Amino acid sequence: MLRQYELVERVKAYDPDADEDLLNRAYVFSVKAHGSQLRASGDPYFSHPVEVAGILTDLHLDDETIATGILHDTLEDTVATPADIERLFGPNVLRLVDGVTKLSRIEAQTETERAAENLRKFLVAMSGDIRVLLVKLADRLHNMRTLHFIKSAEKRQRIARETMDIYAPLAGRIGMYEFMEEMEELAFRQLEPEAHASIVKRLADLREGGGDLVEAITADVQAVLADKGIAAEVQGREKRPYSIWRKMQRRHLGFEKLADVIGFRVIVEQEEECYRALGAIHTRWPLVPGRFKDFISTPRRNGYRSLHTTVVQRDRIRTEIQIRTRDMHREAELGLAAHWAYKQGVNGKEPAAHYPWVRDLLEILEHADTPEELLEHTRLAMYQDQVFCFTPKGELIQLPAGSTPVDFAYAVHTSLGDTCVGAKVNGMAVPLRFKLANGDQVEIQRSSAQQPDPMWEAFAVSGKARAAIRRHVRAREREQQAALGASMFEALAARLSTPVSDEALGTALKRLKFPDRAALFVAMAKGSVEDEAVLDALVPGSAKAKARRTPVAAKGEAISIRGLTPGVAVHLGRCAPVPGDRIVGLRKPGVGIEVHVLDCPRLAEADERDEWLDLSWGVEAETHTARIAATVANKPGALAAMTGLIAREGANIVNVATRDRDRTHHTYALDIEVENVAQLMGIIAGLREAPGVVAAERERG
Ligand code: MN
Repeated sequence: MLRQYELVERVKAYDPDADEDLLNRAYVFSVKAHGSQLRASGDPYFSHPVEVAGILTDLHLDDETIATGILHDTLEDTVATPADIERLFGPNVLRLVDGVTKLSRIEAQTETERAAENLRKFLVAMSGDIRVLLVKLADRLHNMRTLHFIKSAEKRQRIARETMDIYAPLAGRIGMYEFMEEMEELAFRQLEPEAHASIVKRLADLREGGGDLVEAITADVQAVLADKGIAAEVQGREKRPYSIWRKMQRRHLGFEKLADVIGFRVIVEQEEECYRALGAIHTRWPLVPGRFKDFISTPRRNGYRSLHTTVVQRDRIRTEIQIRTRDMHREAELGLAAHWAYKQGVNGKEPAAHYPWVRDLLEILEHADTPEELLEHTRLAMYQDQVFCFTPKGELIQLPAGSTPVDFAYAVHTSLGDTCVGAKVNGMAVPLRFKLANGDQVEIQRSSAQQPDPMWEAFAVSGKARAAIRRHVRAREREQQAALGASMFEALAARLSTPVSDEALGTALKRLKFPDRAALFVAMAKGSVEDEAVLDALVPGSAKAKARRTPVAAKGEAISIRGLTPGVAVHLGRCAPVPGDRIVGLRKPGVGIEVHVLDCPRLAEADERDEWLDLSWGVEAETHTARIAATVANKPGALAAMTGLIAREGANIVNVATRDRDRTHHTYALDIEVENVAQLMGIIAGLREAPGVVAAERERG
């Protein structure tokens, strides 16, 4: 275990300005806080945070991050409070320690690939400050190094799985390949002990059989480069057992068939030497086509730079060679952390010029007040357009920003979305249009009687929810159009002198080129087939004498719109008809039926081509929205008296808008849900008699 003075000296070695006092205080505080707690290894617990801090010094991180490493488990595992940390170490260290503690509390649910990917993104989004993530990764790395001390095989397995699925890829994501590879290796040993042992053994056999190939080839490469006057360090190594195993899995190859189990790195001083070295190597050995990659002229997204090539040596041995400068090498190994060190001015260098986003990131880390502000401005913003929420069981669900409980329900399961009626967010009931935030726990309430509501389309944002709602609306639309069209067909057929036989209908369908009667009914409801054409198809010549613009049902009964959802197969006109009103329909070609009150002024302006339908409400009463304009005296309680009266009449107010306002009077537009016109008239009559109300009228259009 690192001693106190050793740790401080390590930090001082790369950062002479580091706050020595801060580090000493953190060390002493952590020793006291963890007291006599022990690790599974039998070591004092305190050795763990100190080793984590040690790993962080390898990354040349700043004093606050090192202190955070030392303190990272005190909030979770000891009686230390946030107030203690803030008082002794300041608000920055508190924020970092708190961030690491929060990350540790997230229960990992890694049964599915999707969950793992979500959790990785969530960890990034929650970290806010990249240093929180670095401490968390160092914490995990040390826990993996000491994994074998844990007695429970199940627990070891779970931690290794989590490391493989979450933390190793996360380290790779920010370019910390050294961390990533070590974590993968340790996890692989735990998860696939037999495969691991067998690969280790085969590598040993290979070394024994062929002499030290790595050493021999290293010498070859060194000689070729020296010949061209290039001073280079050549590092050769066997690939790690995990990367060999993965390659075997991916290509379904046995170990013997695997061509490249050794890899080399050529490290030079200047960028230009990278290309010269590449030229020398390609001149000497044949290259394997398709394996050359220039990540210097086109760096990877995370900033990785290197030349990669694979050549065939000694007639049969494929070796991968990476060529890079010393700076590139350091960046490749340590990723973002390398740049963090630059910021400290440790190497006396400015952040590399080709890495502007890192410079920005560091800049913002310095000045951003909130994690949101930080996220907004950096590469971490890649997850800013998403929110991460939990199911009651703790499963993480990733959604686009602005998502609502409806989106959440659909993301969990289509059938949950289809039947959702309400939601609780963090235990509180919320409307379905509520906007979810990161970390919300969402519980969906469902009812088997529910169907997707066309209104949801107005606020659902995820593609899955929107598509499901559209699909449902379309299916329902077709269903209702078929029902409406069937009534229209009946009314039309009633005009003929004889009843329509099934045979005649069949012939008519063929003439009109409809596959079945439902298709004909839908077309009639949508107005995409003319009545005359239908009549002619049923009884040729019968439509001749019929004048247009007569209500279809003039001779028969009015067509009932009972049970049809407004906005689906029929659309209510702006005159806002309610049950009890005499209504007519305008059939607009290709649009469908618009329902208007008989005396609606719009009917006079109706298009030539629109057909009129005689409609009735049928018997079933559903509530409809009507609008009342009411003018009341400007005095306290007038609006309350009005709304009270409406409530006593059993109607629901859905919207109130102020229309006009002067010193003495206010005019309101009230949208109320009523069952029928009688109820509406009752309300209007009541309002007219109410004290303070000077006028109340139904509004049309
Ligand atoms: Mn820890």
